[in-house]
Amino acid sequence: MSCPKTKLISAYLDKEMGLREKTAFETHVQGCTKCSYRLEEARSLKAAFAKTESHPAPYGFATRVMARTAALEKRKLPWFVPLFIRFAETAALIIVIFVGIIAGKVMTNGSATEQTNIASSLSLDLFAATPPGSLGGAYIAVTEAGNEK
Ligand SMILES: [Zn+2]
Repeated sequence: MSCPKTKLISAYLDKEMGLREKTAFETHVQGCTKCSYRLEEARSLKAAFAKTESHPAPYGFATRVMARTAALEKRKLPWFVPLFIRFAETAALIIVIFVGIIAGKVMTNGSATEQTNIASSLSLDLFAATPPGSLGGAYIAVTEAGNEK
């Protein structure tokens, strides 16, 4: 179980608390083993970071970073481009739907010769119950001959 007041430790160490809040936290830490342990842990961590060597940034570093950031901001697309892309997607979808509807009408309402051409081009005669010359056709012929007797 952790104490909910452990969240206040970093604010306490960074001196971001008011006087009343600070004294309330200090009296809580005296009675709470979790908070006192976490506070000592955070203090030693902060001390370890304070001992580390700091390196100054190279000359003009901040200026270069800000210039790059400004260049990236310029590269952003204008506000209407996403809208245009959505419009193009919607238009393409509508075109595809209409082409499908028109193609369906051409296939179903076309003249009889067109229908037979389509049927022959799709080889729908293969889906007959027994295609001529097939093993199934021979079997049915034999069984029907047997039933006729
Ligand atoms: Zn506590």
